[in-house]
Amino acid sequence: MKNQPELVIIGAGPGDPELITLKAINILKKTNVILYDNLVNRDLLEYAAEESEKIYVGKTPYLDYTPQEHIHELIKEKAFNKGLVVRLKGGDPFVFGRGMEEIIFARQNNIPARYIPGITSMLAVGMSDITLTHRGISEGVWIITGTKKDGTLSRDIQLALQSNTTLVIYMGMKNLSVIVNECISCGKGHTPAALIQHASLPYSKTIKGQIKDLEDLAIENEVTHPALIVIGKVTQLDTHAF
Ligand code: SAH
Repeated sequence: MKNQPELVIIGAGPGDPELITLKAINILKKTNVILYDNLVNRDLLEYAAEESEKIYVGKTPYLDYTPQEHIHELIKEKAFNKGLVVRLKGGDPFVFGRGMEEIIFARQNNIPARYIPGITSMLAVGMSDITLTHRGISEGVWIITGTKKDGTLSRDIQLALQSNTTLVIYMGMKNLSVIVNECISCGKGHTPAALIQHASLPYSKTIKGQIKDLEDLAIENEVTHPALIVIGKVTQLDTHAF
């Protein structure tokens, strides 16, 4: 029997290979093709059968780049030739992961497509003792990109800074100085903040300080991509003070 084409978009979690769902592993075990991204832990590929195809389609900031159209074409070609295709993405595919674009493309091409959530990197900052909400300290969370398609900064960063919430910025390291200056010009230079690189991994780095000092701290501590910028009082909660 010919394998039916299907696309499953799977969240691989933030980096620690144990932070993937059981549902995802069960699908990886029976897939014929895996198209995986840059931030996916390579250990996860071991769950797939040896004879399955594992194709890297990642995008690395500043370096190599697989155009989205090329990924779409691969999805189509592999689904019709091989059947089940897994698209394995870092964190959660629907949080700055272009997961829905691929689902739409697949369905437009008559390929059934579904989504399995992953733990987005923002949740892994808890492993560095940073909670995103805390009663009396933060009333919510804004999740904003630090790199818009047109290169400008999201206006929502200013709005978030006016609120009593935590602000998490993804893909912000390239624009760190612009982001810091934006915060300073909103009068928020003294707000507590943190940078978390490689959240969930053994070599993860967390640095904390005031927003105005983040750039210097990043240079001093060699914190670069992939990292999250977390802004708000939750970053200076001292667990020993309770
Ligand atoms: N879909 C992913 C995000 C992709 S955008 C998710 O849900 O996590 C890529 C950005 O994610 C990076 O620029 C960085 O800001 C963040 N990121 C991904 N993995 C990370 C990790 N382990 N630690 C810190 N930031 C991470």
